[in-house]
Amino acid sequence: MRYKRQRELVNQDLLSSSHVLIAGTGGLGSAALLYLAAAGAGEITIVDADNVEESNLNRQVLHFTTDIGKPKVFSALEKIYELNPEIKVNEKYMRITEETLSLLPEADIAIDCLDNMETRFLLNKFCVEKNIPLIHAAVEAFEGRLTVIIPGETPCLSCIYAGVPPGKGEFPVIGTTAGILGVAEASEAIKFLTKKGRILAGKMLMLNLLNWEVSLFSTTFNPNCSVCGGGKK
Ligand SMILES: [Zn+2]
Repeated sequence: MRYKRQRELVNQDLLSSSHVLIAGTGGLGSAALLYLAAAGAGEITIVDADNVEESNLNRQVLHFTTDIGKPKVFSALEKIYELNPEIKVNEKYMRITEETLSLLPEADIAIDCLDNMETRFLLNKFCVEKNIPLIHAAVEAFEGRLTVIIPGETPCLSCIYAGVPPGKGEFPVIGTTAGILGVAEASEAIKFLTKKGRILAGKMLMLNLLNWEVSLFSTTFNPNCSVCGGGKK
């Protein structure tokens, strides 16, 4: 009964037998995780090293005021099991580093819900090496971007962000931007896992939610990319 309203739209068996890796359980991750759990993605591994802070609560909607100080992965886990006890959620309370990359699961798809380029590049490297599709989103203020990386077929994150400096620390963001982009990531994951529609593989969607400026462009390989070899690895 739980999936009655979506059964004619997607193959629930495919969704229920899939494993999704969600890196980050902040603003993007809260939204992506809520909707993938509700949709019945059978196994989800969440990774985050941070604890809930009061300043997270404007956008990280899986975490409540009473969770302040708690590891985000455990706060998220509690809510997700209340929402859908039929799925399996694995939590990894750890930072993604060169040393911990081997602890990440070889899931069917990975979702980048991170907040800094340094960790994103590590996740991208892991996904390219293990041939795992990666959904990338990033938000700032009222703007968001979204793309899907298919190793061996599309440019990787290191191609797309070649030469981009690795982050600038804290930036302003309105919760709805993170919510919309996180849900869009979940939507791309559901489409990929159930082989429905056209995912944003090799395309970058840019959204400005303040004035609804929307643009879509093709991502390009960097022939000197050290991660994917510009599509030749
Ligand atoms: Zn590349």
